[in-house]
Amino acid sequence: MQFEQFSFNPSINAGIKNAGYTDPTPIQQQAIPVVLKKQDILGLAQTGTGKTAAFMLPILQLLGAGPAGHIRALIIVPTRELAEQIHQTAVDLGKQTRLRSATVYGGVSKVPQLAALRRGVDIVVACPGRLLDLMNENAIDLSQVEILVLDEADHMCDMGFLPDIRRIIKRLPANRQTLFFAATMPPEIRNLADSILHNPVTVQIGMIAPTQTVSHALYPVPQLLKPALVVSILRELNSNRVLVFTRTKHRARNLARKLEKEGFRTAALQGNMSQNQRQAALDGFRSGRFDVLVATDIVARGIDVSDITHVINFDMPDTVDAYIHRIGRTGRAQATGKAFTFCVPEDESMIRDIEKVLGRKIARERLPGFDYNQALPQNSPDRTRPVNMPRRPQANSQTRRPAHRPDRGAGARIASTK
Ligand code: AMP
Repeated sequence: MQFEQFSFNPSINAGIKNAGYTDPTPIQQQAIPVVLKKQDILGLAQTGTGKTAAFMLPILQLLGAGPAGHIRALIIVPTRELAEQIHQTAVDLGKQTRLRSATVYGGVSKVPQLAALRRGVDIVVACPGRLLDLMNENAIDLSQVEILVLDEADHMCDMGFLPDIRRIIKRLPANRQTLFFAATMPPEIRNLADSILHNPVTVQIGMIAPTQTVSHALYPVPQLLKPALVVSILRELNSNRVLVFTRTKHRARNLARKLEKEGFRTAALQGNMSQNQRQAALDGFRSGRFDVLVATDIVARGIDVSDITHVINFDMPDTVDAYIHRIGRTGRAQATGKAFTFCVPEDESMIRDIEKVLGRKIARERLPGFDYNQALPQNSPDRTRPVNMPRRPQANSQTRRPAHRPDRGAGARIASTK
């Protein structure tokens, strides 16, 4: 199935193209026609399935048909991060439309949020607490809401937001379309869904990024040795389909430069690049002109390259969702992929969170032959701090080869992961 079949407005098709999506994901195939028909949805889907675009694209289409500048779609989510993420999806996919989106969440000043609302917006992505505050202060007009989305409803329930959500919904127009998404359906969520949905169509989807087909490994390494380790790993892998994630744009740019110097055909994909530059990097990676793509989380969202063999997390992602998104770039479509994550001692709590979601421990690996003590300054904290790895003295096998394209066919000595 193609996106063309949904007959979206050209402005929305432009957003899809910009995001780099080629084919709709299963949840998009199922949900988009239902939303376009203005029916309610009960969606059982996790993050990583493409569910945001599954509701955002048809919302943009439906809102495009009416008067702009009033809040006509309200999306309620549990966390600020998710609010920002969904808002960003609205901005990216709706760039060519005249529709505007704003976020409403606590922990930050109300002033810019109120200013955005006053300028007139069509979509609000909100967390329940702050939204209820603004409603109580009559600072937000929800009288024209036509579409309500509850995303990660089970998560909101876990966080104790259920009473707030019920209060909010009571004050929304009754004549509206409701899209309800949750990964699990405990009884209180089922009750909530039953009480607010009208003849919903149930949409149930597993992950597009099947974590089962990806094997995971952690590589404890001192921060300073990450560049050397990634070079050694890339030489071992000898793959022309490796995606490397860094925490910041700056690090992505610098690492891409370093890898380029080391002889790897590398492109960076980061937010300081123009849309054209990003597209060129992505196209180059897709067509095989680049073997390695170094990306940040935000810009990597639309990466849809089917045969990525390895994802290397040069830096630990900030959230478990980000980890799932990153590793979702490999192991797609029944293919198997490997996810290597570099870690420093500060990453331990994030590792525990990721392991909880995966439901298993991730093996700690060492790259055979890599000198983990090389070139560390005598006073580097990394020398004395435990890095969660045995410190066997190694012969310095990190002798650099002259810059060249990574040669093909070298035996892969990366320790296999469980
Ligand atoms: P979500 O489940 O909405 O958090 O989306 C998971 C990831 O899939 C995000 O990074 C999206 O940008 C990406 N995505 C959504 N739809 C598509 C698509 N049709 N093709 C490729 N990637 C997509």
